[in-house]
Amino acid sequence: MAEAKTKEGFLTRFLKKVGVNCAVRSPWIIHMNAGGCNGCDIEIVDALTPRHDLEQYGILLRGTPRQAEVLVITGPITLQVAERVKRIYEQMPAPKFVVAVGNCATTGGVFQEAPFVLGGIDKLLPVDAWVYGCPPRPETIVAAIANLLGKIKEDILSVEKKEVKE
Ligand code: SF4
Repeated sequence: MAEAKTKEGFLTRFLKKVGVNCAVRSPWIIHMNAGGCNGCDIEIVDALTPRHDLEQYGILLRGTPRQAEVLVITGPITLQVAERVKRIYEQMPAPKFVVAVGNCATTGGVFQEAPFVLGGIDKLLPVDAWVYGCPPRPETIVAAIANLLGKIKEDILSVEKKEVKE
């Protein structure tokens, strides 16, 4: 029984490590507008085009949450879509990350006082990177996602160093 537990622990740790490495080396993203004006979405599309070339970092846009590690969210979180955003996040495999793009996704922006708006995405999910602006420039979006990858890589290295010491 103890042996089975050890093997399971090793396998879980191994799969987690593989997942984290894949997420860092070539993260696949899914993009969702939770209720904004589409201004931020156009900038995200611009970030993906050859001019800003988000794909040079191995970052690819996917159409299904089951293949994505990074949820890029725009717009304020309206009551109408809150449950759907949560469901999409739950369908993503771990490790998973959330990037809030634009003032609406970070704080509710110009819609924050509206009765049908919950606020920023942090009211619903843990956020790993924030991109401010209305809308933010594509360079800022590319930099935020690239920084997030650097941060995750550092975290992995520090965990690996700790494991070696132990
Ligand atoms: S931050 Fe500005 S551009 Fe982006 S969805 Fe909100 S209002 Fe539109």
